[in-house]
This record gives sequence, structure tokens and C-alpha cells, in this order.
Amino acid sequence: MALADTIIALARGTWRRFSERNRAPEALLAATDAAIALSDSFTREIMARDIPDLNRIACANGCAWCCHYQVGVTAPQALHIAAKLTEGAGTRSLEEQKQKLAALDRRTRGLDAAQRLKARLGCAFLDAQNACTIYAFRPFGCRGANSIDADLCHAFLEGTATPEQRNGNWLHKVPYEAQRDLQDGFHMGSLENGLRDDRLELTAAVIVALNTPDAAQRWIAGEDIFKDARLPEGA
Ligand code: SF4
Repeated sequence: MALADTIIALARGTWRRFSERNRAPEALLAATDAAIALSDSFTREIMARDIPDLNRIACANGCAWCCHYQVGVTAPQALHIAAKLTEGAGTRSLEEQKQKLAALDRRTRGLDAAQRLKARLGCAFLDAQNACTIYAFRPFGCRGANSIDADLCHAFLEGTATPEQRNGNWLHKVPYEAQRDLQDGFHMGSLENGLRDDRLELTAAVIVALNTPDAAQRWIAGEDIFKDARLPEGA
């Protein structure tokens, strides 16, 4: 079996017990926890291998050029982040985090990906040192972004990258593809369990998940609580 197939199968398997556990909100959070553990374990395994250019990965704590992009998540991830924040797992208080999310949402709501980047506004989960306050449970999309050229990430943000640079390779392919496959498998598993798979904007979706009573239960039951956080098709 090819590596991609293995990753997809394992990620689909994280939903195995969801039905057995009566589709309870805790079972959805457990599936997401399992997918994150899988992501961490693949990252460790990849980094330990002798793969060309892995030593060129430039990402480091405090480098956050890529944290100015629009981030897409699905509902299980948004609900999982909200649950973790509520239990105090972020590195700032829940109240402060809610304020940061609301402040960013006021400035980014309705922007498309290009407008969001042009606004040059950092993610609501960045702290003053440009570190991610939810690093251990950050979205899958963030996990796959491993740059081999931090200057180029900066140039993308400033809009100074040349067309040639834009078309070049700046993300390391191996960790990117592993995270993409994992994400695909996780989404397949949720669809197989009759759940929606809409792509949501991170800030708006976490606000909904934090502020909606019984959010996970209602979403699992089919209520479209995230409709205002949905990204347009192809965004
Ligand atoms: S969630 Fe964390 S890693 Fe992802 S964009 Fe926000 S600050 Fe960056």
C-alpha cells in the first residue's frame, strides 16, 4: 500500500468509534484528538527520515508570515479548538482569546483569500512573540505548511514575490502531502458518518463553536450552525 493510502486509511479510522459511541460530542472530539495524534506521529517519523531538503525547513517559533493567510477548517476542528480553549488548553485566557477572535473577525469577515492576505492581519491565535497559542491543537492546514524559504514567505505577504517565485516550490512536499492525505482521510471519515464537510473560515468558525450553546451536539444532529462561517466554494 502506498504511503498516501496508509495515511488516508488511518485518518479515516479515527472515526471508527463515533457511531459505537452514539455520535456523542465526546466521540467527535476523540476522533479529532486521534487525528492530531496521528499528525504528530507522522511529523516525527518524517523528520527522522533521510529525506532531501528536510534540513532546509525554515519554520521556527516566532516566524509567522504564513499565519496571515485565510485558514480553512472543518466543523470538527473548530469544535475541537473551542473545546480545548474552554478547558484552558490555550496559552492565553479564554476571555482574552474571545476578544482577539472578535476583533479580528470584525476586520476579516467576508474577505476573500486575496483580500485577507492583503490586509496583513495576523491570526487571532498569535501571541505578542508571534507564537501560536494553540500550537498543540492547531488546524491540519497549518500543520502542512513547512516552508523551505522564510524570506519568500515574507515576500508573499508583502506582495513582492516575483511570478517565478510564486510558481516555485516553497513548501516542503513530503510533510505537506502527508498532512493533506491525513486531512483528506479525516474528512472522508466524517462524511462516511453522515456529517457535513463544509470548509469554514477559522476565526468565524471558532467564534460560532465557542458562543453557540451545545454547539457540537447541535452540529452532529444536522443543524447548520456554521452557515455564516462557511468559505465560498473554491476559496
Ligand atoms: S492557528 Fe496557529 S499556526 Fe495556524 S495560522 Fe493561527 S497562529 Fe498560525
